[in-house]
Amino acid sequence: MKTIPEWLWSILLCPDCRGEFDRHTDGNIICRSCGREYKEHSAGFPDLRPTRKIPMPKIFDDVNFQRWQEYQARSKKWFYEQNRIAIWVHNAGHRAVRSLSRGNYRRVLDLGCGDGAHYPYHEHPESSVGIDIDDLSLASLRVKYPTYPAIRADATALPFCSSSFDCVLSVYNMEHILLLEHALDEIERVLVPDGDFIVSVPAEGGWLWDMGRRSLSEPAHSHLGFDYQRAILIDHVNCIWQIDRALRRRFRIVRRLRFPLPIPWFHLNAIVTYRCRKS
Ligand SMILES: [Zn+2]
Repeated sequence: MKTIPEWLWSILLCPDCRGEFDRHTDGNIICRSCGREYKEHSAGFPDLRPTRKIPMPKIFDDVNFQRWQEYQARSKKWFYEQNRIAIWVHNAGHRAVRSLSRGNYRRVLDLGCGDGAHYPYHEHPESSVGIDIDDLSLASLRVKYPTYPAIRADATALPFCSSSFDCVLSVYNMEHILLLEHALDEIERVLVPDGDFIVSVPAEGGWLWDMGRRSLSEPAHSHLGFDYQRAILIDHVNCIWQIDRALRRRFRIVRRLRFPLPIPWFHLNAIVTYRCRKS
């Protein structure tokens, strides 16, 4: 586990039993309490997902959703490198998170770091750890940013001690998480009191976002032979109203940045970025 820096060892714990780890000379780590052994992925990041798997609803077996999942790596190229409007819109969340995360943070959790789309905007990469559930994204991250500490982990069972981070960043994840309240339980747990949760999401369910999809991304994906609208409807399981309500229930909302217009109506926003404080 050579990719884990020394500062990170002190806050890691077993996602199954919350026991502490023993380091072994062969590179693997073992939980002192339950004895579970954790191995390193071949791409060079530890796999600290919990043993228990919550069965997903059958809707995720939908053939359109499955096709979309298979196509996503290539689609990211279109969203982030090929279409200029899509690049401008998608990077709006990264820019907003950068402007809201200029604090003096000691430890930052980059939740759902993916293949490193947020890394170029990151204000604190040296004191951060990225987590993601998707191993292909993490393998790609490892190639792009070989020294950035990353762990394969589940947002609903984080392998970190309570009150470990003074900031959690999340760009374009909350709309995908079926068990949103479980993930928010964990984010709250690992944040210190007064810690910041900086989160950016698309205004899913709003008119402007829907119009953008119909006029821009749907035509670009229409030749692929699956129902793009249906796939996204399943993929974006939480709309902006659900996410906003869930954040307000748990955190104090300090700032809410809206893109492209600063109008407080989700139907006229494409991206909404929050600075939330654990109270
Ligand atoms: Zn354990």
